[in-house]
Amino acid sequence: MLGQMMDVPLLVSSLIAHAARHHGSTQIVSRRIEGDVHRYTYRECEARSKQLAQALVALGVEPGERIGTLAWNGYRHLEAYFGVAGFGAVCHTVNPRLFPEQIAWIVNHAEDRYVLFDTTFAALVDTLAPQCPEVRGWIALCDEAHLPTMRTPVLCYETLLAAQDGQFEWPLLDERSASGLCYTSGTTGNPKGALYTHRSAVLHAYGASMPDAMGFSACDAILPVVPMFHVNAWGVPHAAPLAGTKLVLPGKDLDGKSLYELMEAEGVTCSAGVPTVWLGLLAYMRGAGVKFSTLKRTVIGGSACPPAMLRTYEDDYGVQVIHAWGMTEMSPLGTLSKLNWAQSQRPLEAQRALLEKQGRVIFGVDMKIVGDDGRELPWDGVAFGDLYVRGPWVIERYFKQESGSPLVDGWFPTGDVATIDPDGFLQITDRSKDVIKSGGEWISSIELENIAVAHPAIAEAACIACVHPRWTERPLIVAVKKPGADVTREELLAYFQGKVVKWWLPDDVVFVDELPHTATGKLQKLKLREQFRNHVLPSALEAGDQCPLDPHEPPDANKGAAGSATDSTKSAAMRG
Ligand code: AMP
Repeated sequence: MLGQMMDVPLLVSSLIAHAARHHGSTQIVSRRIEGDVHRYTYRECEARSKQLAQALVALGVEPGERIGTLAWNGYRHLEAYFGVAGFGAVCHTVNPRLFPEQIAWIVNHAEDRYVLFDTTFAALVDTLAPQCPEVRGWIALCDEAHLPTMRTPVLCYETLLAAQDGQFEWPLLDERSASGLCYTSGTTGNPKGALYTHRSAVLHAYGASMPDAMGFSACDAILPVVPMFHVNAWGVPHAAPLAGTKLVLPGKDLDGKSLYELMEAEGVTCSAGVPTVWLGLLAYMRGAGVKFSTLKRTVIGGSACPPAMLRTYEDDYGVQVIHAWGMTEMSPLGTLSKLNWAQSQRPLEAQRALLEKQGRVIFGVDMKIVGDDGRELPWDGVAFGDLYVRGPWVIERYFKQESGSPLVDGWFPTGDVATIDPDGFLQITDRSKDVIKSGGEWISSIELENIAVAHPAIAEAACIACVHPRWTERPLIVAVKKPGADVTREELLAYFQGKVVKWWLPDDVVFVDELPHTATGKLQKLKLREQFRNHVLPSALEAGDQCPLDPHEPPDANKGAAGSATDSTKSAAMRG
């Protein structure tokens, strides 16, 4: 027997329609490429999104066709989210930080009909245009006065909009139709497209705004530092109108000073971004001797948030850090570190040990870890294995790869290696390709990096596998010192003593001026591994008998069998 409730499809347009109708005067503030701060409301945002939809229809764009964007976080990009998806086309956010050849490959693979671009990317568009002959037009996100001088003939966004009256009804689409497209960064092989549906985007927005997720509210002002070209800025542009949250969009300047000033000026209460950005903000605030007056919480994810950073934000700046994990293929939210009532009654250090992990899944995602034999592993916080997920906002197959689904028995293999503890808290230990295999046993590079950055003289660190004649691979720490700080190789190696089991201790430390990052701010370990391919570890020279570490020694009774320190030793380590 079927139920008798309204069969209303879940559509992206309904998010902005809701915000315009019920939070119509709530502000969207954007720092513009033009240099000024632009301010308008959800009501105006919907009206202009409708004008954009009309303009694209007038240009002959059909539902289902892809419209690319090369843009920072700003109100015109937001209009593309709704104006494009709202009439049934697909908003394809392209990462402008990729190499031009990769961008051209992605635009061609997606068959983008038009590409909307911020004028900062004028030179990039001139490079791309000859390589992307199927793109019918490039639309500059500005008015006539700000049109850049370019080789490529371009259309002017504001002129296109001005020609439309905004009298447009969002069509009633099938909620399973495609709304957005985002490519993975493709560190190995070509990038792969995740094609989101209206249904997945709306459900994800609901999930993201729950109190134990990002907790959006109409009382908040959110500044997403995470770019709108990277997995829909973690769903913020969808969740903010759902909740009626004030949006503050930072544009292209993501340095500590610019972010801090915008947060203070706009009364920002919450934010979201990758650890590198929060590192920059911290450095600025320390240097300037300033504190936040309104920021209460921030979601940090995309890469492991070093526990030392989490503590500094909480202890020194009074900002709650919510560590989150997800991926492009998951829209992206999977887990967030929020305590339940019972956990919040535990001693402070025990609470923090939990909060440092990537957290619990939110409703809409299920997860499991499996061993080499494909069997599910226990949730004991020790056993680590390949992480699988499933749910209504998890990918089923990649765009244009109709024949081969990546799913295994209905679960998506994330490529991450993780533990899950009895509290249901996930801890990512590695990307499967980054894990260090010493004498057949796994060492977590993330855990060693977390210890390195807890050292007062270290700004950033990467841990990679280095070849070893006896153990196949051993950990090498590549670290960047804080400006003006000093620490020797020996001192940093000694710092690891007692914080992990002996056979996890890094074999060597190399200091560099900076570490390579991917276009989405993650450590580029592939590049580092290439750079240090011929690095000779001192322990490798001693080879064999003299190697100080025996992976097969029985695990220390006080330490986890997987090698990690107990919560109390780990907490002590992170205080450093
Ligand atoms: P992307 O699809 O570019 O967002 O990358 C997703 C990948 O980033 C995940 O599969 C993880 O390997 C990594 N990642 C995301 N968040 C975290 C986190 N909080 N801790 C560790 N790794 C993370």
